[in-house]
Amino acid sequence: MGRPKVRPADGIGVGVMVGLLKAALTQGGTIMTNKIQKTDSEWREALTPQQYEVTRCAATEGAFTGAYCDTKTAGTYRCICCGAELFRSDKKFDSGSGWPSFTEAVDNERVRTKTDMTAGMQRVEVICADCDAHLGHVFPDGPAPTNMRYCINSAALDLDCDGDDE
Ligand SMILES: [Zn+2]
Repeated sequence: MGRPKVRPADGIGVGVMVGLLKAALTQGGTIMTNKIQKTDSEWREALTPQQYEVTRCAATEGAFTGAYCDTKTAGTYRCICCGAELFRSDKKFDSGSGWPSFTEAVDNERVRTKTDMTAGMQRVEVICADCDAHLGHVFPDGPAPTNMRYCINSAALDLDCDGDDE
């Protein structure tokens, strides 16, 4: 009694699942993700040296040097590497830090975070979920209601101004 029955997922046999898994693998893709993967030299080619340093080597642009530091233009900030929508201008605020700052991402699924112990401090690194680009860091000292401050390098972003689509 009480012995859990090991059963494959409803309506799908183990053999079928293995087949699907193999199909996914042989298609050269990573299972269950749309990850954008490029070689180091492909990234170098696609990006400016600064964009490459920031997004692929986790460098930080100088404070108050970035293109979007003071930008108030309405639009969507996309990942410079893969074009994924990351931040909206209506969540951008003047943090005085010298970097574009946002209270939240377009969607929490668009960005990943990980603990960063470099530079002699513990910080939370913000990464593009689609292509692993380093974007910046997030700090818990932002304004309400999120109290978060996504401190993002301009070099990692590409502003898609509202109304540009026509
Ligand atoms: Zn990306």
